[in-house]
This record gives sequence, structure tokens and C-alpha cells, in this order.
Amino acid sequence: MMSRSSSAPRLSLARGLAPALLAALLGVGWWVMACRESPAEHSAGTETSVSEPASADLYLEARRAMVKYQIAIRGIENPEVLAAMEQVPRHEFVPPEEVEQAYDDHPLPIGYGQTISQPYIVALMTELLAVERGDKVLEIGTGSGYQAAVLAQLTDEVYTVEIIPELAASAAERLQRLGYTQIHTKTADGYYGWPDHAPFDAIIVTAAPDHVPPPLIEQLKDGGRLVIPVGPPGGYQTLWRITKSGGEVVSENITGVIFVPLVRGGR
Ligand code: SAH
Repeated sequence: MMSRSSSAPRLSLARGLAPALLAALLGVGWWVMACRESPAEHSAGTETSVSEPASADLYLEARRAMVKYQIAIRGIENPEVLAAMEQVPRHEFVPPEEVEQAYDDHPLPIGYGQTISQPYIVALMTELLAVERGDKVLEIGTGSGYQAAVLAQLTDEVYTVEIIPELAASAAERLQRLGYTQIHTKTADGYYGWPDHAPFDAIIVTAAPDHVPPPLIEQLKDGGRLVIPVGPPGGYQTLWRITKSGGEVVSENITGVIFVPLVRGGR
């Protein structure tokens, strides 16, 4: 299964296998799983054709199935968000041993006790942010860089802060390799936001603090949106959308979620 974790799938491999065998190996798994109502246990498959060019994206069908059966079906409607989820190669953002599950309906470990969120949660939070092209967006909790890459499909200026230096470094390297030059990364405690680039049109927090960090409200533009899980570490949290409007701060309770905790460190 090495070919499935390769970042540059090669056509010669596809030519070397009979199409039926290829479908059995790569295609049927995700299709069967994607049609089930319960979350898939395995899968992240691909489907391809021997007539596709060498640059063909072997995971495109898996992404389309993810968008259809995990995201659109749960009510995400914004066509730009759906397109972004279809475009970003999620399998590039997970460790090699998780590649086969990259498009499954659950979070995955990314090392250091952290996780890349379930695809639906990424899409939901992205839709709630209501990003428009030209918006300046801040993410707290870079992790793998996946959420930042999804945001970069929607606007040209994305800032992302990560507290674990090793994760920040590997995400920065990955984002650069994949061509996401509009994403700016920094290692710091995101509780304080990124004052040098404030104010932001939208701020997304992908780790859960037990209260809303005041600096993040301060760094929102008027009309800006903050999407953030808030609650006790190790328990359920509430996902909030907080909007700043004419000096007022309005909070909407969206749903219950489970995130890794926002940990505190130096500035
Ligand atoms: N958005 C990520 C997943 C986030 S997991 C992705 O798409 O892959 C949550 C991340 O928040 C972890 O990487 C964790 O190290 C980071 N984190 C926790 N506390 C933080 C803090 N105070 N400041 C910045 N990052 C933090």
C-alpha cells in the first residue's frame, strides 16, 4: 500500500495492475464505507483510470465522496467551502501510517498528542467563519496545517500560530512544499493572537481554552467573526461563533464538540 501514501502517485503503477484489481484495491473500500451511515473504520481509498494523465490526483474521488457523504449531507452548503474541501489534499497532512484513513469521517493523530480534526468539523468551522476573498484570517493551532490550507483556498492572507515548535516547523515545511505561499506561520502561544498583523476579519481557534481569550476579541475587526470551542480540557466543549458588530460582541452557541485543550506558554 505504499503507493497510497506516496505524494506523487505514478501512472506506471496503475498501468501495471489490471483495472479490476486496482478497483478492488483502491476504489471499493471507500465506496462501501462512504455509503454506510456510521463513520468508516478504514478506507480513504482512491479510484483512477489508466487513461488519466500522470499528474492525476489519485485521491480526488475519495475527497469527492468525503464532501458528499460526510459534509454536504450534514448541511454544509457554501459552495466555496465545499470546493475548498474537495481541493485540499488531506492525505498530505497526516502521518504516513494514517494516509489510508485520511478521508475517513473522524479526527486522526498527528503526533505530540494532537489531532487533525474530522473533515466535517473543519468544513463547519470554515463555513461559520464566512471568509470572503481579501479577508485577513488568523488560525490558532496550526497542527498539521490542514485547516490553514482550507482557509487559503478562500482568501489570500492566512496567519496561523502553533505552540509546539516541532509541529509548527513541519507544518511550515509542508505548506511551503505544497505551494501555500499565502500562509504565514509562527511558533507562539496563540492565546495572545498575532498582534503585529491584527485586526483580522476572521479568527478560528482549533484547540479549546476554558474561556474566550480577550486578546482574540480585541484583534477582531468590526464585523469580524471568531469561531472557537470553549470548555474544560478532556470534556465536551461548546463551539461558539462570536461576532463583533458596532462595538457589541454577540455569541452564538453552535454545537457540542471535543477538541484538544489550548495549552498556555510564553508569548
Ligand atoms: N488545525 C489543526 C489541528 C489542530 S489540533 C490542523 O488542521 O491540523 C490543535 C493544535 O493546537 C495542536 O497542534 C496544539 O499544539 C495547538 N495548540 C494548543 N494550544 C495552543 C496555543 N496556546 N497556541 C497555539 N497553538 C496551540
